[in-house]
Amino acid sequence: MTATPTLQSGLFKFGADGLPHLLANFCSQCDLVFFPSRVFCGRCSSSELTSLNLSRFGKVHSFSFIDRKPTYAVIDAPYIQAEVKMPEGVSVFTVLDHCSLNDVFVGLEVEIYVDEVNSPKSQGKVLAYKFRPASVHSTEEVK
Ligand SMILES: [Zn+2]
Repeated sequence: MTATPTLQSGLFKFGADGLPHLLANFCSQCDLVFFPSRVFCGRCSSSELTSLNLSRFGKVHSFSFIDRKPTYAVIDAPYIQAEVKMPEGVSVFTVLDHCSLNDVFVGLEVEIYVDEVNSPKSQGKVLAYKFRPASVHSTEEVK
């Protein structure tokens, strides 16, 4: 019996286009963007924050090859961990998938997609966001 995976709540949602978008917010006073969303601005302390769906595409700013599974990690090593700069000005720390280390470079255009990962709290699966090179169009995407 396979349980239905649960959604990684509060981090992304599927838009009207059926595609995943990261859920961010920005400060209405100083325009600083946050991902994950915050309850007050880290720059000016304003609590006037407005929801924002991030773009589906960003660019690799830095990356690292992880060859050992960290304690409590929900995916198995090896994998690539990346910092992705989004057009809105915020960085997203993410797993970069569907590529090898030799394919990755600073400035590589990547896109968000959703994949099943192991839940850290149970035997079930969780739908989590990851990124992959924008040139990859997988039919394995979970919706
Ligand atoms: Zn602010």
